[in-house]
Amino acid sequence: MLNTRVYGSPIVYLDNAATTQMPYAVLKTMEHYYHHTHSNIHRGVHYLSEQSTCDYEKARNIVKDFMNAESEHEVIFTSGTTDSINIVALAIEPYVNEKHEIIVTEMEHHSNYLPWQALCKRTGAKFIVAPVSVRGELDFEELERLMTQRTALLAICHSSNVTGAVNPVKKVIECAHQKGIPVLVDGAQSVSHQRVDVQNLDCDFYCFSGHKAFGPTGIGVLYGKQQWLNQFMPVKYGGGMVRQIKNGEPAYWESPAKFEAGTPNIAGAIGLGAAIEWFASLPRESIISHELELTQYIRSELLKIPGITLVGSPEEQIGIVSFTHRYAHPFDIASLLDKLAIAVRSGAHCAQPFMDRFGISGTVRVSISLYNTKEEIDYLINGIKRILKVVDGR
Ligand code: PMP
Repeated sequence: MLNTRVYGSPIVYLDNAATTQMPYAVLKTMEHYYHHTHSNIHRGVHYLSEQSTCDYEKARNIVKDFMNAESEHEVIFTSGTTDSINIVALAIEPYVNEKHEIIVTEMEHHSNYLPWQALCKRTGAKFIVAPVSVRGELDFEELERLMTQRTALLAICHSSNVTGAVNPVKKVIECAHQKGIPVLVDGAQSVSHQRVDVQNLDCDFYCFSGHKAFGPTGIGVLYGKQQWLNQFMPVKYGGGMVRQIKNGEPAYWESPAKFEAGTPNIAGAIGLGAAIEWFASLPRESIISHELELTQYIRSELLKIPGITLVGSPEEQIGIVSFTHRYAHPFDIASLLDKLAIAVRSGAHCAQPFMDRFGISGTVRVSISLYNTKEEIDYLINGIKRILKVVDGR
């Protein structure tokens, strides 16, 4: 993919917050699965079924170790972050009523906003949106004030998909737990940039998507503490999640099977396992500093261009930078960059409450990954300058 040419030029792929590219290890693992072991899992006694069951469960163990979950029972394969969050929002519904409140923040992706708003509409609970500061950071003091005995759950992203701001989730979780509030962390943007240790964070739920962490699409993870998963009822029903039906009454398997009804995305899970194995084998500290260096370089170079405003100036951030220009529309900038073979995002990034907070309709978003280079950023900056010369007309 990174050698792909578009319009005759080598691609400069800077849309990694939307999806990351996959290493050969992932493609080869999935190809091997389809060529040699493809079969359904868990219920067959034949060789192929046992082999793919073994590979599927090995992938779960890789995810468990990667996130430092206590047990593989806490790792549920889903179709992605959106699915993971919706599962929790449905499973927690019997514990929520009109006396409760659910808190999200103004910087959430719609995936961590709409399921909670819908849950509140169904149950009569109050939907509360905690504010972000002018810097695009969480207003911690205000959030602390909003968390009360009535709060049934707090849903917060680990990092923003618009500004890259990293939330102090450990501190937030500590504060929430002092008030008896469970916390769901949307880690969609974090797993490929930061260390994630769910025991250290002490979060109740953590969600991410395979395709934003060098894996394939259609696979994701829901981590949940066993104390929650044990008491939750399933939210999807079908084969594979029921131990027996006696006199018509079902008895369900324990987690994760209880939450994985039907045939799962076997190749996806195995591919995600390969992605994480690959990523975990890389020198993490140098990746983090490489990405930080590139991010700071993007910010400083953009700030030198007249008319450009960076959206958000968080103290801690991952490799995502959003900007606007005084005349040029984000869509026009992104469309013209595309003609230079540069892939960036424009729009509201599924975060309209955040756009409203800043009184803008959208941004241009540049998002990097470990494979991006300083040369690519130079090409981007030159591209932006060229475009603005035309658009600005002066
Ligand atoms: N949360 C955040 C912070 C995201 O950036 C995204 C993807 N843009 C999602 C949730 C949803 O992820 P998916 O579409 O893979 O379910």
